[in-house]
Amino acid sequence: MQHDDTLSPATLAAQGLGTIPMPHRDIVPPIHMATTFERAEDGSLPGGRIYARDASPAYDPAEALLCRLEGGAAAALFASGMAAASAVLLALKPGARVVAPHDMYWSLRNWMIGFAANWQITLDFYADAEELAALLQRPADLVWAETPANPTWEILDIARAAELAHAAGARLVVDSTVPTPVFTRPLALGADVVMHSATKYLNGHSDVIAGVLVTRAEDDLWARIKTARAAGGAVLGPFEAWLLNRGLRTLFPRVRTAAASALCIAQHFEHHPALLAVRYPGLPSHPGHDIACRQMDGGFGAMLSMRVKGGEAAARRVAGAVRIFRRATSLGSVESLIEHRGPIEGPGTRCPLDLLRLSVGIEDTADLIADLEQALQKANER
Ligand SMILES: *Cc1c(COP(=O)(O)O)cnc(C)c1O
Repeated sequence: MQHDDTLSPATLAAQGLGTIPMPHRDIVPPIHMATTFERAEDGSLPGGRIYARDASPAYDPAEALLCRLEGGAAAALFASGMAAASAVLLALKPGARVVAPHDMYWSLRNWMIGFAANWQITLDFYADAEELAALLQRPADLVWAETPANPTWEILDIARAAELAHAAGARLVVDSTVPTPVFTRPLALGADVVMHSATKYLNGHSDVIAGVLVTRAEDDLWARIKTARAAGGAVLGPFEAWLLNRGLRTLFPRVRTAAASALCIAQHFEHHPALLAVRYPGLPSHPGHDIACRQMDGGFGAMLSMRVKGGEAAARRVAGAVRIFRRATSLGSVESLIEHRGPIEGPGTRCPLDLLRLSVGIEDTADLIADLEQALQKANER
């Protein structure tokens, strides 16, 4: 029997909704490897499935849990966050108009620009809610949002964006990879679809590439998204789905620990003499702090950025001097990561070249602070 709705999301996640599979009453779900499913003598499908590219039982536990955590009507796993995001764009019709943020996950923004140009899709970019409102004076089909947004953790008011999008005839899709359902539930704030790179916090262990979409309603857009998944074939393998499901069991303690640590680190370094600025939505100095307080529940996430005095070279030296933070791209893992972000994004980046992006993991906070202190000091000694 599954747990009921009255339990807290943390409890539902820890026990995978409380689902106990028969006949062995496994505490964790088995790995479903089957790619195809038997028809009955009359040709019907008693198991309810035809072929694993359309819908694999391997996806059920993670899809059911994520659907519940986001408060949606349905969820779909994908082979990566990019596959999930691109399925939304592929579900649009030629001539559609998309409005997207300047500051968002860089690879997705770059792909969107090329895709829009090739597929007769109009793509306009906004910097903040005011620009979004101005762009939505004209009808649109899709509004893309990311909050807190890479790499300065800009905050967008989701409820306001949803109102503006709906008034313009558009659906609002929110990339909620960074806050996770632990801190933000975009569907409850009016968004139509939530997207995650499940590679990040949802799995949390740097060992699975995966993505997910959760929809508020099983409508025409969702039907086209499901077709894009089945026909595009960007589906997750059963073992990856199982690993994701395992990672989800510890989602709440991992994310809460990392976010509490990130807040301490942000506060500790905010006025550090070697830094120009610390960008973290949990600091009152962050321009989106008030909205973040309203729309994020229980924490501000575990991503922050630091702008180092002395420009690009100084930032490179600091990244080169850390010992506990790992120098690597990506985010949302149990191990803390540091990235000198601007050079990674390359030509056309809006990311300041003195910016270091930190993904705080679950190591001891004092160790992480000491590591950054020694790296800043070492970088300044030269
Ligand atoms: C990583 C990431 C993506 C892309 O996800 P992949 O799983 O790497 O394909 C999209 N959005 C955000 C915010 C991300 O951090």
